Amino acid sequence: MNTGVFLLSEARGLSRDLLGGKGYGLAEMAQAGLPVPPALIITTEACRRFLREGAVPGLWEEVRAKLSALEGLTGKRFGHGEGATPPLLVSVRSGAPVSMPGMMDTILNLGLNLEGVQALARATGNPRFAWDAFRRLLAMYGEVVLGEKAEVFEEKLSALKERRGVASDAELSPEDLEELSFQYLRHLEARGTPFPMDPWDQLQGAILAVFRSWQNPRARTYRRIYGIPEDLGTAVVVQAMVFGNLGEDSGTGVGFTRNPATGERGLYGEYLRNAQGEDVVAGIRTPEPLERLLDYAPELYRELQEVAALLERHFRDMQDFEFTVERGKLYLLQTRAGKRTAQAAVRIAVEMAKEGLITREEAVLRVEANALPGLLRPAVDRDRAPEPILKGLPASPGAAVGHAVFSNEAAERYAAQGLPVILVRPETTPEDITGMYLSRGILTARGGLTSHAAVVARGLGVPAVVGAEALRVYPEEGRAQVGGLEFKEGEVLTIDGSTGEVYLGAVALVASAGEALLQELLAWAEPHRRLGVRANADTPEDAQRARAFGAEGIGLCRTEHMFFHEERIPWVRRLILARTPEEEAEALERLFAFQKQDFKEILKAMDGLPVTVRLLDPPLHEFLPPLPDLEGKARAGDEEAQALLERAKALHEQNPMLGFRGVRLLLLRPAIFRMQLRALLEAAKELKEEGFDPRPEVMVPLVADPKEVERAKALAEELFQEYGPIPFGTMIETPRAALLAAEIAPLVDFFSFGTNDLTQMTFGLSRDDAGKFLPRYVEEGLFPFDPTERLDEKGVGRLLRLAVEEGRRANPRLKLGLCGEHGGEARSVQFVADLLDYTSASPFRVLTARLAAAQAGM
Ligand code: PEP
Ligand code: MG
Repeated sequence: MNTGVFLLSEARGLSRDLLGGKGYGLAEMAQAGLPVPPALIITTEACRRFLREGAVPGLWEEVRAKLSALEGLTGKRFGHGEGATPPLLVSVRSGAPVSMPGMMDTILNLGLNLEGVQALARATGNPRFAWDAFRRLLAMYGEVVLGEKAEVFEEKLSALKERRGVASDAELSPEDLEELSFQYLRHLEARGTPFPMDPWDQLQGAILAVFRSWQNPRARTYRRIYGIPEDLGTAVVVQAMVFGNLGEDSGTGVGFTRNPATGERGLYGEYLRNAQGEDVVAGIRTPEPLERLLDYAPELYRELQEVAALLERHFRDMQDFEFTVERGKLYLLQTRAGKRTAQAAVRIAVEMAKEGLITREEAVLRVEANALPGLLRPAVDRDRAPEPILKGLPASPGAAVGHAVFSNEAAERYAAQGLPVILVRPETTPEDITGMYLSRGILTARGGLTSHAAVVARGLGVPAVVGAEALRVYPEEGRAQVGGLEFKEGEVLTIDGSTGEVYLGAVALVASAGEALLQELLAWAEPHRRLGVRANADTPEDAQRARAFGAEGIGLCRTEHMFFHEERIPWVRRLILARTPEEEAEALERLFAFQKQDFKEILKAMDGLPVTVRLLDPPLHEFLPPLPDLEGKARAGDEEAQALLERAKALHEQNPMLGFRGVRLLLLRPAIFRMQLRALLEAAKELKEEGFDPRPEVMVPLVADPKEVERAKALAEELFQEYGPIPFGTMIETPRAALLAAEIAPLVDFFSFGTNDLTQMTFGLSRDDAGKFLPRYVEEGLFPFDPTERLDEKGVGRLLRLAVEEGRRANPRLKLGLCGEHGGEARSVQFVADLLDYTSASPFRVLTARLAAAQAGM
């Protein structure tokens, strides 16, 4: 029985889920006639079974059988060379169904032992190469399978180089590498984890290590960030080794069929002569651009171009492929859909559709809607920029300003204070993922455009400059140097990931240029969109911006934001302190004037489109200075502070989010309600007189009972009598309101789901504090994702669905919208696409909402 081990030639028709991305790519390439070294693939099913049960019956027999098939295909014996025939060596790699760069470990040259080294040296006539292969195997195996730290091996290598007085590995002699190998062997022996000399033992150990690496913390973190399910498991690819380090006619490289940063068509990539696989990806040496091949190996360059074209025709997507040249012969080792920036994703999708490689619908579906805000990332204002201090490779576009930090720990410290950071490292490794995730920008001294830093930054949508070679970074000392110039932790830097330039201090940024291609893509998407898209906006500027992004109105205008102005807040405080109706009236009149002006401007910006204004939501004490400040001033004899302190104490609540706020406050202080609504109606009236077409709507927050809605509506109707009616609605943001939707619906024209509060109250999870532990909850697999970010379909979604169904039944004319942060998150939008009439998103997320809603309709 096959327990899940296949040769490439047997893998035809098997799914990516089973073969993993790497195995699937290899099988497909082999079938397309591309030169791929023979390999066997152990499926994800075997991995899942191993993780579940601790063993896979029959697995080793199966692996042995396929391994002898590999021996047949290559004409070599595993681990044993004979005469001029070198031993068969293999690479062992993990390959999850979803690409997880840098997260799992690779072992090369597996099968070598002391006899094998001799055989390899004999067969290649190159003892240096053979010992180099062995010491690399020992270090990789020692780290990945035996659990020793990589630095231990690096330190021994550095120490040896120092003793020999040489700068690069290449200057070490065969004898040096032999000595190093024995140092490694002795070290592993001494720590109680001897290196297995038997090739078969090596292979078993490596396969099990790959299975287990699915559970390593880095892989878990990566899955959490990208929302990859925990239970996919990884496949294992065991492939005959080919060598890129056999001399100047050998080498290794990475190619993209189109530029992953810009999307520009044409072969793109990097090549490292006389080097072995991981050297490029690990970013340890900076490789040269592929075009350089035109100078000394034009044939190879043309061959790569043909490969790229064939890959694109076969996979119908931009591919990222790895290759090795062994003594002039090209081998493909991997291909996968290339990671790309949002900008590149759009360009590639649109251009491939125009080239006829994919349909327009496919193009629309290919772009990850959540990535679109990254397209609108700002750029350095070149007219106002000073001289850059440094230039590296532009690895992930967009500009970022932040405080320089040199470690995960420093990144966390700054981020906890809400400060933007730029992570500066010699190079990054998977250990740096926490800091990278927290950063606005990433800067490294070493590594190419496909280095770990570059790949991860593009995935995260974070601007990055890599390989800035003039930079010296001293993480332990919290400082870095560029020539004579030094900067320390906390100093502000600006990096431009589109040009590779780095500036000291905060440089002025400008919005990115209009994205014609994105507009084209959205034009193809729009006919598939049914769900309306509005914006959450409280200022005329936001309203204008949202409109430019295609918002069809405002779904949430939070009026309290208009109160937080320097010249206004004193009047809000007077309102709170008012002891007589006269005092209250005076404060309200002032606030009325401000608010009316704001409404006029917003309604004007959204002329002809609906604008939903929400009446005051927060508790009043939010408008007072913090208690300790007041206490201090009161003690110093400040009379106003004394008065405010008294009120602040009276208004103080243990749990203000569940306190005297929203509709509760509006009903018990109806003068505020009337002032706000009158300001809105008056603004609309004046605009109409000026020839505009304002479309105001009003809603109340935080209701939990139909009686509250009834009362609020009665208040509104007093004013509607005077001004004429406008649509009146309620937010549905308490679980009770959702449960009583059938009773509330007949009283209103619309529901707007406030999924921020609805999530908070359904989970009983403070939206302001949950950030302290939610990430860990997700990491531990307790929640599949952060429900404050993406709508929880199971629980909150169930309440929403119930309110929609019962609300509609009770009032068939009821309009339904969503205005929580989820309104601009692609998967949440797709969830509500068939349930609601519209979603409302923050201005930069309007594009995401439009695209996601269209994708839902396809
Ligand atoms: C909500 O609760 O979802 C909402 C939109 O309102 P706010 O975020 O202002 O509480
Ligand atoms: Mg709310």
